[in-house]
Amino acid sequence: MDLFNKIKGGLYGVAVGDALGGTTEFMTAREIKHQYGYLTEIIGGGVWQLAPGEVTDDTMMTLCVAEGILDNPAAPVESIGRHFLNWHQSKPKDIGNTILHAFHNYEGNWFEAAFLTDLDLGQSGGNGSLMRCLPVALAYRKLTDIERVSRQQSKMTHYDETCNEACIIYNRIAYRLLQGEELKHAIQKEITGTKYEDMLTNAPNCEPSGYVVHTFRWVLHLLLHSSSFSGVVQEAANLGGDSDTIGAIAGGLAGIACGYPEIPSNYSSVLLVKDRLDEISERLYRIRNYFPNGFHWY
Ligand SMILES: [Mg+2]
Repeated sequence: MDLFNKIKGGLYGVAVGDALGGTTEFMTAREIKHQYGYLTEIIGGGVWQLAPGEVTDDTMMTLCVAEGILDNPAAPVESIGRHFLNWHQSKPKDIGNTILHAFHNYEGNWFEAAFLTDLDLGQSGGNGSLMRCLPVALAYRKLTDIERVSRQQSKMTHYDETCNEACIIYNRIAYRLLQGEELKHAIQKEITGTKYEDMLTNAPNCEPSGYVVHTFRWVLHLLLHSSSFSGVVQEAANLGGDSDTIGAIAGGLAGIACGYPEIPSNYSSVLLVKDRLDEISERLYRIRNYFPNGFHWY
């Protein structure tokens, strides 16, 4: 699989997981079974009354991170923040609580906004910085750049170190996939010795909730135990809870691993943001090759 189709597969994977799981967000697995049997198609609806193919905050914020990096790859925090605020002004249907607080607290310094948000809420351990972080691994070649910018984009809204840790593990797995490593091998390498190591042998004993540790445990479990891209995003959608975000995060890595051509066209062709995904995939591919030596001197 060539690099361009891995990058495009990653972005589309996020969007497909989001659009499919958006239908079942906040439902229980039992309610989903009662209403849909086993959901396999992108049909919209759900709590957000989505149009078929409409994506939610997971994909939109992923695109903000991508565009912010493309605007200023050497120091992307301010440009990512501008895209966040532009998106917020578009009055999105759904926006996570931690991120909403950080937007309200922002007065020119994102890291201060995140710190104040953590104080306001008493925690900031949601999955909102993990769900949007994949473009960092798609844009930068060097692991030092990937780790630095993964951390920066997380700390813009989520002060909690647990979020930063999950973003770095996630993007280190993505880095390995982009080098051509096999998915399960890459996961095993990166979670061994971390708090997620037991996902190699155990099933999650937590709800599929928006707490980043719970979310990431389910993501890793689905990736380790599903045999196809469709299996990963469908299982996420049928979990309920924070199904769109779990689907988006898992779908991103599954999409890199299989590559864009392997994502079923009944998923990729119905996405309403398809043109933006195509354009940003190409720009990420170009910038990655334009700065082959990375930004490690910063
Ligand atoms: Mg969402």
